[in-house]
This record gives sequence, C-alpha cells and structure tokens, in this order.
Amino acid sequence: MISVTGLSKRYGSHLAVKDVNFNIEKGEVIGFLGPNGAGKSTIMNILTGYLSLTQGKVEIDGFDITENPEEAKKRIGYLPELPPLYMDMKVREYLDFVYDLKKVKFPKKAHINEILKLVKIDDVQNRLIKNLSKGYRQRVGFAQALIGNPDVLILDEPTVGLDPKQIIEIRNLIAKLGKNHTIILSSHILSEIQSVCKRVIIINQGEIIADDISENLSAKLSSDLSLVARIICSENEMLETLKTVKDVKSVVCLGCKENGSFDFLIEPEDNCDIRAAVFERVVSRGKTLLSLTSNSASLEQVFLKLTEVADNDEARKMLGTQNNYEEEN
Ligand code: ADP
Ligand code: MG
Repeated sequence: MISVTGLSKRYGSHLAVKDVNFNIEKGEVIGFLGPNGAGKSTIMNILTGYLSLTQGKVEIDGFDITENPEEAKKRIGYLPELPPLYMDMKVREYLDFVYDLKKVKFPKKAHINEILKLVKIDDVQNRLIKNLSKGYRQRVGFAQALIGNPDVLILDEPTVGLDPKQIIEIRNLIAKLGKNHTIILSSHILSEIQSVCKRVIIINQGEIIADDISENLSAKLSSDLSLVARIICSENEMLETLKTVKDVKSVVCLGCKENGSFDFLIEPEDNCDIRAAVFERVVSRGKTLLSLTSNSASLEQVFLKLTEVADNDEARKMLGTQNNYEEEN
C-alpha cells in the first residue's frame, strides 16, 4: 500500500531524513516512534504530498507521489500535528467545506453524517469549532481526514495535549479505524504506540534504526528468559545452590535490595525456561522466594537504549541486524 525507497529530505544544509526505506501492507497499523526532531513529521508530510522530497521514491497504492500526486493524495487522509481547523466555522460547515475541497463523489449529506457518527461528534455539529474542547477539536481533525473515505490514514501525534480520558477515547477511535484502514501513527511516547500498533518503526536523527513487531524488539535486546529472584537466604549458600539447578548457565548476586533478602540474576542455557526448577529448588532448601521476575527489557527500555546511543549504526548493531521486519517478510 505504501512503498518508500531511498527517501531523503534536506532543509537547506540540514539532512533531516536520510535514506529511509519501508513498505506498509494494506490494513497494517504501524507506529513511528522517535524523539522530538527525529524526522517523523517530515516523513509524514512527504508521504501526504505536503512536502517535496529531496531524493528517493514514495508510492501510495502504486501511484508515485511526485509523478501522480492527485491519485496518490486521494488515497490518504492526513491529520497533521496542528489540524487545519477554521475556528470561526461550525463543525458541519467546516466538514462541508473540506468535502468540497477534496472533490468527493459520495452523496454529501449521508457521507458527512456517517463520519460525524463514527468519530462521535454529531452532537456538536452545529457548534463553532473555537468553542469546542481540545479533545473534540481533535475529533473534528479526524473527521476531516476521513472525508472521501481514504484507505490510508496518517496521524501525526494525534494525542498531544489531550487529557488522559481524551487520550483513551482517541486511542479507541484509532483502534476502530484500524479495522478497515491502513494507519501510520507517530508519537514520541512509547505507550501510545504500543497500545495500538503491532509494528513499530523507530526513527532517530532522520534514520530508521529499527523496524519490527514490538515484542521482537524487546526480545532482541535482552535474553528474554533470564530471571531475577528475590530470596530470603544467605548469599553464598544460595549462589552455589542456584548454580546447580538444571539448565542454569550463570548466577550473579545483585545484592540486598530488601531487608533480609538477596536478588539473584539467573541466566538460563539458550531458550530454556527455568522458572519451575528455580522455584522448586528454593523451596526444597526451605527458603522463601519473595519474587521471581523476568529480566526482559520493556520496549520503553529498548527505545531509550537505542535513542541514547549517539551513533545509529551502533544502535542497529544492538538489534543484531539492519532490518528484521523486511527479512522476515
Ligand atoms: P519530529 O516530527 O520527529 O519531531 P521533524 O520532522 O519535525 O521531527 O523535524 C526533523 C528535523 O528537521 C528537525 O531537526 C527539525 O528542526 C528540522 N526541520 C523540520 N522542519 C523544518 C523546516 N521547515 N525547515 C528547516 N528545518 C526543519
Ligand atoms: Mg513532529
């Protein structure tokens, strides 16, 4: 549905996007995750035809955004970081205006009614946009993106500035729209992306440093099956005991984190699940196991770790490969 090859964008002397490549299949909901200034909005603006590209190729449903902008743009609904709302218009009036601008062919009244219902703003359709709350305004932004029923929705930081309740509402709306749209959603907040997107593209300093299913990203940066056990015991005795548990490769004592107990980092042999064996051994020695937790990195940690590394090649090395998503598919 979306194909991006060798995309670069230069603002004057500043190379904001560097040789970016990805493909998005019809129906995918994917997240662009990256710190402020990473280049997310720039890429989105290029995909939607709002900004010209310096180098590379972008195709939407087979239509080249540079050579065939009309056809390409027809397939995209765009919610920019700052939605282009006219504050002195009423909601319905504004949507009628966007409908005319987009030269949509569907029956006007029915089409707009359907969208008003879908994004739940039919009750405010006769209110002035300037009198709406931020959450409602954002819904009007969604509504304008949906006019013309485009296959692809591009949403640039759609929950910025909303309160927690509004964020949940917008998330639910995105999940609903994801059932019959291809969606790209950007955010600098991880939980935002994690809650609605299966696949994540991490962008840092204008480059893609990761493109994968979010669980794979976490797994890659940590030996997923290693454990941290908190046990009430004497340190050295337990250290030796744990080392003799079946399939345990190494044990390190992490010290005393809670009075009377010690934390042990237990690394298993490749792909072995040692939880039951560790539990049984501790109990059989008459000791108390206070907790047993997975040491796997959360996506949050992965994200911080990757974007803290100054060098993008270094970050990719931490992930083991250049681009796993592409390889697996
Ligand atoms: P993000 O959306 O990830 O926060 P942007 O795409 O807005 O990142 O910005 C990427 C980089 O390009 C930043 O360094 C930003 O300062 C720069 N940039 C963005 N827009 C312009 C512009 N119109 N002119 C010059 N530099 C820009
Ligand atoms: Mg941005």
